[in-house]
Amino acid sequence: MARGHEASGWGGNGRGGSVARVVEALRSDGPSSQAALARRTRLSPATINNIVKELRGEGAAEVRRVNGRESVVSLVSSHGAVISVQVNVTSLHAAVFDFAHRARHDVTIPLREAESEGGSPEAVIDMVRSLVADAGLGTADVTGLAVGMQAPIARPTGVVTSWARLQLPRWKDVVIADRLGGELGVPVVVENDANLAALAEWTWGAGQGTDTFLYVLCSERVGGGLILEGRIHHGGDGLAGEIGHMVLEQGGPVCFCGNRGCLTTFVAERPILAALEAAGGATGSLAGVIDAARGGDPASSRVLFEAGRHLGRAFANAAKLVAPSVIAVGGLLGSAGSLVFGGLDSSVEINSLRTVAPSLSVEVARLGADATLLGGVAAAMDHLGNGLSALPEWMKATGPARSFTS
Ligand SMILES: [Zn+2]
Repeated sequence: MARGHEASGWGGNGRGGSVARVVEALRSDGPSSQAALARRTRLSPATINNIVKELRGEGAAEVRRVNGRESVVSLVSSHGAVISVQVNVTSLHAAVFDFAHRARHDVTIPLREAESEGGSPEAVIDMVRSLVADAGLGTADVTGLAVGMQAPIARPTGVVTSWARLQLPRWKDVVIADRLGGELGVPVVVENDANLAALAEWTWGAGQGTDTFLYVLCSERVGGGLILEGRIHHGGDGLAGEIGHMVLEQGGPVCFCGNRGCLTTFVAERPILAALEAAGGATGSLAGVIDAARGGDPASSRVLFEAGRHLGRAFANAAKLVAPSVIAVGGLLGSAGSLVFGGLDSSVEINSLRTVAPSLSVEVARLGADATLLGGVAAAMDHLGNGLSALPEWMKATGPARSFTS
């Protein structure tokens, strides 16, 4: 029973209005006391008490004492399993989150260059089936599946957007949620990978508690996601938040999207390596550049500083349109910390913005490379009408994923 790629929100599984308000408050604000829930939802303490009892009965919430005094309510999930899949151009990655046994199982399939980029729907279906079997689960245990694509998703059709198809050729014209949902028999949510990472950072990371949050993923490529009032903002065609294609310099380098001077053409891995190559530096990867800068290499430090400056310009432009309270930088450039933030914080545009928007905070994202898969869990749970106020330890990635050679 594929339910289409549109997350249906709280109406999806028919929860009553008051219950939905309590779940929404716990989802957006994290664990809360019953008194705080009553204030936030404007429901009576007695109603809150009944709803909390109902959610506990379903295994959807728990109540714990904090500091031996105040009781705090959190959303939890104690049955079923959710699968999160990440489709990259060069690899497939999936994890099953088994709430009944509080266990996570991961699998990664590297795709060889000779093969089709981004795998295929069939490869994802096979991967999910073997992951479920290896985790000792049956298909009936799986309540939801989320897919994060390394490409923008066109709305309302739910296919990879036409100008990014060359990156993922086997997904051309595939209505992903219908194809996977029809084959696997579970509700499927499909999103751009950076949108999912943004949702994870909003739910459990740098954006928690904010009503306007911008997340920017900067590694091999640049992606972004905008969360408004707890929802991924897609805009009319699904391109909202694609900050990587914000034009910074009209005469700049040509971008794969067909424009010139996009943010991506300055701060993605390839242009950073190219800038360093011109200086005679020979490093094979962005991670290598960051290591060299940490080791004191001045040219590597310089290119990262300049990448920070470009990010500062782009963030200042974006901030004027959407006024986020927090912008989080994820991916390798985020992990480079002060090497990138030095340039970012000293950019003219960010400094002039700070005089009009003093509360804007630009931070390093907190969930690292796992953000997209975790965001898939958040999106799938939202689709099913539940959520998790806090991220349990067992859900975090541990050690390298079990790999298959494809
Ligand atoms: Zn572009």
